[in-house]
Amino acid sequence: MIVHWHRRDLRASDNRGLARALATGEPVVPLFVLDPTVLEHASPIRVACLLEALDDLRTWYRDRGSDLLVARGEASAVVPAVAATYDAGTVVWNEDYSGLARERDRAVRAALEDGGIAVDTVHDAIHHEPGSITPNQGDHYAVFSYFWKKWRDRDKREPVDAPDAGDLADVTGDPIPSLAALGFDEPDATPQTVTTTAARERVAAFCSGPIYRYADDRDYPAAGGTSRLSPHLKWGTIGPRELYAATERAARRAEATDDRESVRAFQRQLAWREFYAHVLAFNPAIVTENFDGYEHEIEWRDDPDELEAWKAGETGYPIVDAGMRQLRTTGWMHNRVRMLVASFLTKDLLLDWRVGYDWFRRLLADHDTANDVGGWQWASSTGTDAQPYFRVFNPMKQGREYDPDAEYIRTHVPELADASADEIHGWHDLEPEQRERAAPGYPAPIVDHAERRERAIELFERARGES
Ligand code: FAD
Repeated sequence: MIVHWHRRDLRASDNRGLARALATGEPVVPLFVLDPTVLEHASPIRVACLLEALDDLRTWYRDRGSDLLVARGEASAVVPAVAATYDAGTVVWNEDYSGLARERDRAVRAALEDGGIAVDTVHDAIHHEPGSITPNQGDHYAVFSYFWKKWRDRDKREPVDAPDAGDLADVTGDPIPSLAALGFDEPDATPQTVTTTAARERVAAFCSGPIYRYADDRDYPAAGGTSRLSPHLKWGTIGPRELYAATERAARRAEATDDRESVRAFQRQLAWREFYAHVLAFNPAIVTENFDGYEHEIEWRDDPDELEAWKAGETGYPIVDAGMRQLRTTGWMHNRVRMLVASFLTKDLLLDWRVGYDWFRRLLADHDTANDVGGWQWASSTGTDAQPYFRVFNPMKQGREYDPDAEYIRTHVPELADASADEIHGWHDLEPEQRERAAPGYPAPIVDHAERRERAIELFERARGES
């Protein structure tokens, strides 16, 4: 027998590690480990998504006369024990690129090899593995546009088939523990369904129409013009090759050049995901440290009240509050608004990006270390190819530009339901009595954007040693 250890690849199709195990001709034992060290870093919403995806994958295996073994315990103890129980000579898994995952994998590999069990690992989560797209000097690109050109022009692998029933071992697993049994509360948010069926439906729906409008719609949160595939890519309920192949078919069906360009714009975003995976793989410390060092420490403020207002969506900046409330209620936030709320935290409230990252990590169903850290360090001007420190988003202007009718804002901030778009976008400039009339329950801005913008620039100039 051979063990395939599922981790962030919670699917049977387009799974290169699983296909590698099948190719040996040995019956495959599918395994997932609920590792306490990994769960320690998890949150209710992510564990809820995980359990849903596991349940779906288990059903897939059971329908084919096998089962997904879901074991609890340190992976370095559990994986060798399972391999020994089934007399497996090899364990296969797909590579993960975060520092924590790699540390765990090193321990598991050592324990297996000590016990005489071989390890075989495969790159599956991205098209081009870290180290395969490099500049002339250095092991990864720090500027996305260069990375993108190479990524775009490289051949892509085809999706790989799912196993047949006859390829799988006849095993029976224990029940999957509940959220409560794992020590997690029910999440406050209702996330989208995270199963392969749901992922495929989303890909099919997106690639049959919205992908052709993506380039125009993607920045408008009310338009719903993005794929919302991030939780699936995070959990691996869809394979990157299967998704890419669907986008290529969409490109071939495109009637107009603009439509093809729009498909390209979507593929470009998929490349951002791989860019950040490369950056993280070679710089595991960026989870807690700035990628781009300044001469001096950035003197972030510490202001618990302003931080709480940001978390609660009570800053008095409507688009920021809409985003923060969308995060709380759905476990997802639109990309443009993620950029805005991250900029607001770091450049208006002058608070450390790490506190924002921690909050996102807790509440996002799609939290992905590489993308989340990448997004935060981009917004706080500390990352690779980041927003220059002197370019500070104006949240009122951004709201007017990207949510002109305030439709997105009203959906997530019910206190503003009866206010006009002009009142909402001009909230900062209204007199107290005008605010009281338009939306009595909604707060006045907690800070003055213009004043904070100046302070942010001074903060970064001091860190650069310029003042
Ligand atoms: P689409 O626009 O449909 O894009 C398709 C896919 O491309 C996404 O699912 C994602 O995998 C990838 N992608 C798109 N934009 C980016 C980007 N800017 N960076 C990296 N990959 C991208 N994305 C996450 O997947 N997990 C995170 O934890 C995460 N945290 C973020 C934090 C901040 C502060 C910022 C600014 C961005 C963050 N992003 C994160 C990136 C981006 O916001 C989301 O990937 C996107 O909003 C997901 O929605 P979608 O699937 O509809 O995206």
